[in-house]
Amino acid sequence: MSTPHSANDRARPDGYDCRMTQTYTGGCQCGRVRYRFALATPEAYLCHCRMCQRATGGFAAALVNVPSSGFEWLSPPDWYASSPIARRPFCAACGTPLGFCYNDTEADDALDVTLGSLDDPAAFRPVGHFGVESLMDPWLDTSTLPRKRSDDSAALVTRWRTATGRGVPE
Ligand SMILES: [Zn+2]
Ligand SMILES: [Zn+2]
Repeated sequence: MSTPHSANDRARPDGYDCRMTQTYTGGCQCGRVRYRFALATPEAYLCHCRMCQRATGGFAAALVNVPSSGFEWLSPPDWYASSPIARRPFCAACGTPLGFCYNDTEADDALDVTLGSLDDPAAFRPVGHFGVESLMDPWLDTSTLPRKRSDDSAALVTRWRTATGRGVPE
């Protein structure tokens, strides 16, 4: 797995990375903040630390570790200090959490972006857990819980159709 919250080490020890890099894009919900990055392996991880729980409002943060050298803000985010050692990009207009980085990140270090802010989050697979001291086990394997599609909710379908005239988005 990639090393969560730390420098990226995807290249082989001899410095040669034989995998093709691909370009990925993402941004906030309202579209004001956009980014793109190049990455060889579409891998993500879950950070269960309390700061990621608070910062994303989820039971964990799903994050993609990206080398800073391959990352570019197409339109700049806002930032806040989430702890004495780290800061997080977000959109002040819509509130979307966009990632994480250490304050002392060097030019060749890494930035983490939130999986859900990617345009195609399904392209990534989870490869590990970090911050497991605050991992909440009941939330980890929810595969046996009942499943409902968004459009199984008649009230939601009605609300969306009244507001937009369309069906519930995929
Ligand atoms: Zn926004
Ligand atoms: Zn965390």
